[in-house]
Amino acid sequence: MFLTGAAVTRVEEFLQALHDRYQSLRDGQLASYIPELAKANPDWLGISVVTLDGRSFEVGDIAQKFTIQSISKVFVYGMALEDHGREALLKKVGVEPTGDPFNSLIRLDMDSKRPDNPMINAGAIATTSLLKGQNPTERLNRMLAMFERYIGHEVFIDVPVFMSERATGHRNRAMAHLMFNFGMVTGDVDEALDLYFQQCSLLVTGHDLAVMAATLANGGINPVTGERALDEHYVQDVISVMLTCGMYDYSGEWTYRVGMPAKSGVGGGITAVVPGKLGIGTFSPPLDAKGNSYRGIRVCESLARDFGLHLFNVAKADRDLEEWLTGSGADSW
Ligand code: GLU
Repeated sequence: MFLTGAAVTRVEEFLQALHDRYQSLRDGQLASYIPELAKANPDWLGISVVTLDGRSFEVGDIAQKFTIQSISKVFVYGMALEDHGREALLKKVGVEPTGDPFNSLIRLDMDSKRPDNPMINAGAIATTSLLKGQNPTERLNRMLAMFERYIGHEVFIDVPVFMSERATGHRNRAMAHLMFNFGMVTGDVDEALDLYFQQCSLLVTGHDLAVMAATLANGGINPVTGERALDEHYVQDVISVMLTCGMYDYSGEWTYRVGMPAKSGVGGGITAVVPGKLGIGTFSPPLDAKGNSYRGIRVCESLARDFGLHLFNVAKADRDLEEWLTGSGADSW
């Protein structure tokens, strides 16, 4: 695909208009149950789109670092699939949406004792506890190396956020111990929790989230570096779970309205995959009542509607994405 300078301007102009429309919204609250997160600037808004040929279109605070939080669950789930395979992992963590809040532990004490899916905290902690490695350092290094393949550069953990989560994560500790009791978490529970708190405290930018989504959209190969981040056989498993469970207890309505496999985190990020086309990353810290970025949801909804990016959209979109990317689309919008 040939790119002209005008094309960059055109898509970025569109994103800038979205940014300007939503930046002034004052709804939503900063996450405060992890004390460090309450220090974020509520005005931040970044939007990044990365195409499968590795181009970026972005506006706003896309270079601002923040913690990945629950978005990490997607990528750690992919790693656990590579470590154990689909069937073995399904015995420990299901793939059923719950409609429950992310930190719910109510269903753990029923039936199989297996957490319902890897996007709620219980399922994510069980998944993290399964990562292979001789010792905690090796497990952490393997995990960081995995994130680096998706992101394309060295990654770091925000130590104050990690310490804050570790000190206040009593509910997560309770879940982990309950699951240990049922044999769904094995090994050292506190080590597994530390690794989980570390994965949540990974520093990323809105741009990084778009590259990570584009990597999944591209069948597991980072479109910027060309490096494989995830075995191609597991890409569909990961993307499917994002679609059904990725947006907390808003996942059903998100799929209905936006129709992109996505994951959000309480740090204010959203990573959204348009399979075979592109990745989207948004960052804005104020959250709605379900824990999703208030502005991020609206930005993704507009992109889905205007460019027909909803997975099940069969009608012609108002704007043709390919034409916009090549700069040949109509001018009015
Ligand atoms: N580290 C957070 C927790 O476990 C992740 C929450 C989230 O982003 O949903 O509470």
